[in-house]
Amino acid sequence: ARVTRFAPSPTGFLHFGNLFTCMVSYKTAKTTDGVFYVRVEDTDQKRKVEGAIDVMLKGLSVYGINADEGVVGDEKEIGDYGPYYQSARVEIYQTYAKALVEQGLAYPCFCSADELDEIRTAQENESIKGYWGKWAKCRDLSFEQIKANIDSGMSWTLRLKSPGDLEKKCYFDDMIKGKIEMPENVQDVVLLKSDGIPTYHFAHAVDDHLMRTTHVVRGDEWISSVPIHLQLFKVLGFKPPKYAHVSPIMKEENGGKRKLSKRKDPEAAVTYYAEEGYPQESVNEYMMTLANSNFEDWRRMNKTEPIEKFPFNLKKMSVSGALFDIVKLTDVSKNVISVMPAEKVFELAYAWSKEYQPQLAELFAQDEAKATAILNIDREGKKPRKDIAKWSDVLDYVSYMYDETFVPNYELNGNATPSLAVKVIEEYLKVVNLDDDKDAWFGRMKEVCPLVGCTPNVKEYKAEPEKFEGHVGDVSTIIRVALTGRTNTPDLFAITALLGEDTVKARLNSALN
Ligand code: GLU
Repeated sequence: ARVTRFAPSPTGFLHFGNLFTCMVSYKTAKTTDGVFYVRVEDTDQKRKVEGAIDVMLKGLSVYGINADEGVVGDEKEIGDYGPYYQSARVEIYQTYAKALVEQGLAYPCFCSADELDEIRTAQENESIKGYWGKWAKCRDLSFEQIKANIDSGMSWTLRLKSPGDLEKKCYFDDMIKGKIEMPENVQDVVLLKSDGIPTYHFAHAVDDHLMRTTHVVRGDEWISSVPIHLQLFKVLGFKPPKYAHVSPIMKEENGGKRKLSKRKDPEAAVTYYAEEGYPQESVNEYMMTLANSNFEDWRRMNKTEPIEKFPFNLKKMSVSGALFDIVKLTDVSKNVISVMPAEKVFELAYAWSKEYQPQLAELFAQDEAKATAILNIDREGKKPRKDIAKWSDVLDYVSYMYDETFVPNYELNGNATPSLAVKVIEEYLKVVNLDDDKDAWFGRMKEVCPLVGCTPNVKEYKAEPEKFEGHVGDVSTIIRVALTGRTNTPDLFAITALLGEDTVKARLNSALN
């Protein structure tokens, strides 16, 4: 079985791209019943943010991504391969570093920051940069020189004595990007900094091995480091993992593409989806459409299957980077919500509203059964309505059902003149009866028709429109608008029943004034 991981630095910010990559990493393990673990890369103590890990792990957990092993909360870990905080593993890295020194594969470097700057300046026109070749001044120091330098208190870093050959290539088969060929690494990269703390390159290689990682799934900004990483696995005597480099989520801008950006795009923050009230399922479905192009076909054929049944495949990932599209997310989410039972819609929207929209929470709290009934209108049957993409749409969707939020707007479309509207409402008020069943209810509209110069028969109207002021559809639209302020609503019969007699009559009367 596969072992994959998520290895965040504890910044406290979860980018949508992190969530996406993490989901891919998680699925990569889970399609083989494998293990997904979390390791915190916190050797850069300057960046430590209190509570950051909890925030990030909660962000993942909302979308069903929970670590089987590793860090599961701030300073909380489970599993046999820990510690899973790199800051607690410094002695382990130093032990491996010492072994490399003993084998002549690593050496101390005494170059000062100024000297390294000079090298950088001198290399301006070189195609291969870094500490290598004639610039690697400390590579061949004698034991005596090294000892003398250390004894005199000079600070030093530990560097890899790279066995790389300029003439040779590093080949690897990325599970997403395919076969890749790059020059071998010739840089004597730093393994331990002067304070004895490992660099990312070194620490992650030691950890990925000791934590028995089989597949490294990560952002493709690391692809250029693979030659360094494979070389480190080799000198350490470790079996290298397989790699899957996930392209960043892109966004369209001015006809071009750029990365989804924390600075420019609110959707880049994973918290955005919870704040707006996108159900967790919608985001997961949407991520799967970004991940695997065949997901949508699968979904069409398997409307009610849980998403876990989808045969996720790394090979079907986009190489160039999937395009983020909020319209698509909206469509996906409307579909997801349209097939939820009303009880679930109510429960999720209510929970969301308590945190983000007290006004909706107050309406829902008045009468939970009524709220559920409102959300249930037009939900069953072959073609459920798709008006709600996120819980923040719900207040607008239900607002006319509550006197507190009903804003009458009696502008009418179609054939209805204001004078026709007045006649229709006056006649309808005389006959409206909340005890009617649906057929009888519609019968009342038809009854009203001849009294106001309309015909109950739409065909008849179409044949000779000049003979009538309108037809039964216009009558029902007038009543719909009087009762809801809108021309497009779910089933008006169900709405009328839920509004109740007092409200129905009050609204019809106030429409006349
Ligand atoms: N700590 C690295 C990051 O934050 C992890 C890279 C990796 O997964 O190897 O991107």
